[in-house]
Amino acid sequence: MKKELPSSFPQEILPDLISYLKHLEGKGIRSLYLDDIEESGPFEQPSSTSAEGGEPVPVTAIRKDLAELEEGVRACTDCPLHETRTQVVFGVGNPGTKVMFIGEAPGRDEDLQGEPFVGRAGQLLTKILEAIDQKRENVYITNILKCRPPDNRDPQESEVRCCEKYLISQIELIQPKLICALGRIAAQWLLQTKAPLGTLRTGEYYYQGIRVLVTYHPAALLRNPQFKRPAWEDFKKLKAMLEASP
Ligand code: SF4
Repeated sequence: MKKELPSSFPQEILPDLISYLKHLEGKGIRSLYLDDIEESGPFEQPSSTSAEGGEPVPVTAIRKDLAELEEGVRACTDCPLHETRTQVVFGVGNPGTKVMFIGEAPGRDEDLQGEPFVGRAGQLLTKILEAIDQKRENVYITNILKCRPPDNRDPQESEVRCCEKYLISQIELIQPKLICALGRIAAQWLLQTKAPLGTLRTGEYYYQGIRVLVTYHPAALLRNPQFKRPAWEDFKKLKAMLEASP
């Protein structure tokens, strides 16, 4: 819900306040308490070496930072899903990619193999990527949750809140030009909305300045073949966006 600022609020500090809140959000802080402010340290403007300007960060440095992050995630016990996982499913692909694909959570095959999108739905995603001239190893693929929910149930909000810090860091490190949200759960998290997938597919959205394209989860395409045609339209759009992107 949007909050209105009191009329006495000094408008001149509003841009800095918004920047600061975005900075906190980037650290995974979505509910603000005084302790959060103290823990998050003094506000620093984002580095000028971001995607918005300056020297690009070398891919080897991003790979190293991702590996360090992954090591931490492998030891994570922040939510009850660690008790039932076989292994953490962090993410795979090219850290220097222009496009990140974000799904919901690992399924049975992913939990066993430790890699996202390797089951039937993953094989379909790989085929779709090939159809738009993208190799799986040249994009980056991950999920909102890094551990499998039992019986492939939907992620619970508390689990998403616990785990989102890792995805936020992945996006910050990779700085893709484009994010493709695979399915409702990923789209609703990225866009902080409860709107249905059908609505989100058709809009133009951004996450932290990164263009977000919403489409069906490949598992939904397997269950509902009638979604394949509209999904193909989405992927053609994605292909055009990637070709237009520097
Ligand atoms: S789902 Fe995320 S927060 Fe929960 S245990 Fe796994 S890595 Fe940690």
